[in-house]
Amino acid sequence: MKTTILAITAMAILAISGCSSSDSTATTNTTTTSTTTTTTSTPTYTPSVSAFSTAGPHNITISTTTSGAAICYSTSATPVCNAAKTGCTTGTLYSAAVSVSNATNLRAIACKSGNNDSSVKTVTYSMSQTYGTLSASVTPTSATLGATCIDSVNTTMDAALPAAIRDNFKCQTAYVNGANNVFKSVNMPNHVSFYYCSLISAGACAVDKRNATLWAALPSGNTSAGTNTIFVQNLEFTIPATPTLKTGTLTGTQNGYVAVGVTVNGLAIFNNAAAPPDTLAAEAATFDGFDGHPQNAGVYHHHAGVRKVGASGTDNNDANLIGIALDGYLIYGKKCDNATATTADDITLTASTGTSDGSAAGITGASATTLDQLHGHTTTTRHLGTATYHYHMALDPTATIDTLLGSYFRGVAGTITN
Ligand SMILES: [Zn+2]
Ligand SMILES: [Zn+2]
Repeated sequence: MKTTILAITAMAILAISGCSSSDSTATTNTTTTSTTTTTTSTPTYTPSVSAFSTAGPHNITISTTTSGAAICYSTSATPVCNAAKTGCTTGTLYSAAVSVSNATNLRAIACKSGNNDSSVKTVTYSMSQTYGTLSASVTPTSATLGATCIDSVNTTMDAALPAAIRDNFKCQTAYVNGANNVFKSVNMPNHVSFYYCSLISAGACAVDKRNATLWAALPSGNTSAGTNTIFVQNLEFTIPATPTLKTGTLTGTQNGYVAVGVTVNGLAIFNNAAAPPDTLAAEAATFDGFDGHPQNAGVYHHHAGVRKVGASGTDNNDANLIGIALDGYLIYGKKCDNATATTADDITLTASTGTSDGSAAGITGASATTLDQLHGHTTTTRHLGTATYHYHMALDPTATIDTLLGSYFRGVAGTITN
């Protein structure tokens, strides 16, 4: 049925195309005003580079060679000209240079009355990160950690995002794009770490290379993750805005994803396993003071705790929002918040002791106080007004330590690039 519809559409386009050609011929014969529609020239950006070697923000001038054309631009959606082609249905009418920061996605279209609209020009900007200082209000032991980002890392939240994301996610850019929410992050922790060095490059963090402000010793008893150091990334998560439960065979969290979710402070979430032959329980001894560590390409990440992200407490034995999984379901601490902001009535949860068989049909054990084999259950929370599936940090039988996710996603997973 779908194939038939597509075929008809293609034929219709061919017919229109032929019609346009006869119009042209007619114009030539009668030497009346041409009916060929001009297409407005696609906007160009000045400077024309997308990768800046200096820290931002930078100002971008947008222009078009079509005289008298209006330009609509947006950093969160595809701009659309209005019917009169003098302004914008979506986006902002260009009047002065646009300020862009790292990971800003700038889109522009040119419109002019009587013309076809131009193509949309899209550029994603990257710029050097100077992560030398933390805000004075943020200290390694502060309970408000997560409120501020390090220098040059900004928070940009599309107003169209749900409040749970818009009001809680920081140190990243997120926006609605069709049926998905896109999260972009340079993945630089907004806290001190043993793995923060003075240069934006991978390599051993020798004593004289330690970042004066951001370096901190490992917790007592922990050891270095080899010579791994934190390196600036360009993570882009495309996550379904309306998550859906997967049926049939579940998607494994260990299927080679760059990351399986993003934390409220813009950091990569990894699965419940370590690279063989290591076990995650053994690798946990390389976690820094905030329960994260970088892998060998410098991607800092959390398998387990995201210590002190929440408004209170020094661990995740609470109901704070920790992040979002690649399938769009939210991830909370070890308690469920009972759909209220108060912590007094938070529900202590019991983790599943079983492992998933990788099928939706095999999922068992979820209730208001217990979790299924994927660390999840379906209840209301203070962010979810109707009962919705969500994950909790929980003791994972595969990892044998507390982890944020299990071996499989409950929902249909989105995509991630770096
Ligand atoms: Zn790891
Ligand atoms: Zn819950």
